[in-house]
Amino acid sequence: NHDIHIIGGGLAGSEAAWQLAQAGKRVRLSEMRGSGEMTPAHHTDRLAELVCSNSFRSDDAESNAVGLLHAEMRSLDSLIMAMGDKHKVPAGSALAVDRDGFAAGVTEALENHPNITLVREKIETLPPEGLTIVATGPLTAPGLAEAIGGATGAESLAFFDAIAPIVYRESIDFDMAWFQSRWNKGEGKDYINCPLDKDQYVAFVQGLIDGEKTEFKDWEKDTPYFDGCMPIEVMAERGIDTLRHGPMKPVGLDDPRTGRWPYAAVQLRQDNASGTLWNIVGFQTKLKYGAQVALFRTIPGLENAEFARLGGLHRNTFIRSPELLDSTLRLKARPNIRFAGQITGCEGYIESAAIGLIAGRFAAAEHDGALMMPPPPETALGALLGHITGGAVAETYQPMNVNFGLFPPITQRAKKAERKKLYTARAREALGDWLAA
Ligand code: FAD
Repeated sequence: NHDIHIIGGGLAGSEAAWQLAQAGKRVRLSEMRGSGEMTPAHHTDRLAELVCSNSFRSDDAESNAVGLLHAEMRSLDSLIMAMGDKHKVPAGSALAVDRDGFAAGVTEALENHPNITLVREKIETLPPEGLTIVATGPLTAPGLAEAIGGATGAESLAFFDAIAPIVYRESIDFDMAWFQSRWNKGEGKDYINCPLDKDQYVAFVQGLIDGEKTEFKDWEKDTPYFDGCMPIEVMAERGIDTLRHGPMKPVGLDDPRTGRWPYAAVQLRQDNASGTLWNIVGFQTKLKYGAQVALFRTIPGLENAEFARLGGLHRNTFIRSPELLDSTLRLKARPNIRFAGQITGCEGYIESAAIGLIAGRFAAAEHDGALMMPPPPETALGALLGHITGGAVAETYQPMNVNFGLFPPITQRAKKAERKKLYTARAREALGDWLAA
């Protein structure tokens, strides 16, 4: 007997269960690990197991977006943050945790909560009725992934993401880069273009070939590439002109400084509704992060580029949330189902837990027959939620960490360090108003 069914006891499902139980709701929490099942990345049957690093990243709530998210979650009685703080290990200004103590602490808190029934079971279908939160993560078991695919219209949900790097618009040099769509199609100014001359292009291609790459894990080798998303370094190896005929083709792009097409060009496409984030078109890559930053900053116009995320390829399961979910994370086609965690297309332990937190609160309100206002977009929680539920461009939707590019832009002129403080000060005020309401 339960009020809300949560599927998946990872970062998001655990936080959602806690929020609901604390609100007095009876929760059934279904977790397949511990029933003889395992994902390719988990090692234990503990709830909220950290599959890779033990870091929750920056804890600086004054000038860092994820640090701000930490602070907001703490003020919303987050179990993940409480256990993170309790099992903290030294890591400078970051919050890193003893992963065993942390996961054991989360498991114990949920197992002992009188409102939670933890059931070790694998769920294969989407419950047709009853308030449900699906929080099965990037490694959702195949049967359920198929059921989700059926309900969302996607053929398959497990694929390698083609992740191209995303750049903050304010870090692009517009003395060099210009706005124009190829052949002036569409609005005529939909892309940002960066020109390369022959020497720059040849050096860039060589940099791709020489750059240090990350290796595939064994279990990743069987997963298909998504929509032929070829890493750029693989294209570079096929011949010196392959990229110039592919994602770096210059045709139809008139460099305003010469009036002519450059030898090669890099294009960036708008990535969020407010236009603060731009992704580099076709630049999915397995180069290591350091190598990416060094190489992409050799592109004219991107010398001082700051990256909201770097490129990568890894197996992932996520849905096209911006078109499929409503503003409270419900599947529009099946409103008894909410999604939470990385399967919604947020990225990272803390982001996943944050979306679990807010999904739990939305579900509790709905069970009461009440409407809860989403957190305002000026807060980290609201900015992330807004990106997932509509702010991002659906066609190119890719998993995203929280960052200031997701917030409504601050137009006031200020130095970079000062601007970050303006974002966080505005967020604190907005969260305070929202909590009071
Ligand atoms: P999870 O924490 O994965 O939880 C989902 C849970 O659902 C799991 O416990 C799983 O067993 C269960 N489940 C799945 N299917 C079913 C089913 N059908 N029935 C019942 N239970 C089911 N983020 C970082 O911040 N730092 C990192 O270093 C990092 N490394 C990563 C490495 C890998 C290999 C992957 C895949 C992801 C990584 N991430 C990292 C990204 C992400 O933050 C984590 O995956 C995070 O755990 C996502 O939280 P979640 O709650 O959405 O999913």
